[in-house]
Amino acid sequence: MGKLTLQHISKSYGENHVLQDVSFHVDEGEFVTIVGPSGSGKSTLFQLIGGLYAPDNGKITLDGIDLNNSRGHISYMPQNPSLFPWRTIIQNVLLSSEIAGQKDMGNALELIEKAGLSGYEQSYPHQLSGGMKQRVAFIRSLNSPQSIICLDEPFSALDEFTRFEMQEWLLTIWEEYRKSIVFITHNIEEALYLSDRILILSDKPASIHKQIIVPFPRPRSEDILLSEQFMKLKREIHYELRGR
Ligand code: ADP
Ligand code: MG
Repeated sequence: MGKLTLQHISKSYGENHVLQDVSFHVDEGEFVTIVGPSGSGKSTLFQLIGGLYAPDNGKITLDGIDLNNSRGHISYMPQNPSLFPWRTIIQNVLLSSEIAGQKDMGNALELIEKAGLSGYEQSYPHQLSGGMKQRVAFIRSLNSPQSIICLDEPFSALDEFTRFEMQEWLLTIWEEYRKSIVFITHNIEEALYLSDRILILSDKPASIHKQIIVPFPRPRSEDILLSEQFMKLKREIHYELRGR
């Protein structure tokens, strides 16, 4: 479960032609990252996948089910962790499974422990740091019944050190659960460190300009960040993004 396919997706907002003939897929359990400059239509892609808007053309399916204009099939984690301030941490984590009518307290508690948040079950979001809140939002996505998680620049508001810790943590927990992930970032190193594949969006109207298959084996360690191959790919993506 969790195979996502976009075929020939186009989208305009009035005169603003944002996406033109975007096609890609995410395999079951795959980690795919979309990079592109700000304003290139990355969040719009997620809104189409999430069924908030319909594409003007094209088709989006998840495990063969048509997602066009149909909500609730994906788990979506925005840049801002969007926890409910009046709910405790455990209540926030249980939310996604509650909506699906399959509340599982044991699983939620286990995820909270894996997020390093044991002891905070009864705390409220305002009592947690930015990184902690992001971990709560992510385990809430993992606890949801949806087979695919869409993350829209989830770490961009964090300081660099917290960001790296969060990337490491995300990989550890994802390698265990292996839900399909579509990740959006404009940070090239983050894309290379986390993903199986990277899709580079072209200039507006955006389509998939290039695909990079990330060669590093998993589990990944921070050593790869200093490798020749990492630097070379980083440079390649940098120039792809700039040289247009
Ligand atoms: P990104 O996430 O890559 O920064 P967006 O998908 O947010 O880009 O935006 C792409 C373009 O679409 C921008 O020009 C933006 O102004 C426009 N846009 C995004 N959402 C809407 C909307 N709901 N209504 C009208 N225009 C929008
Ligand atoms: Mg965006």
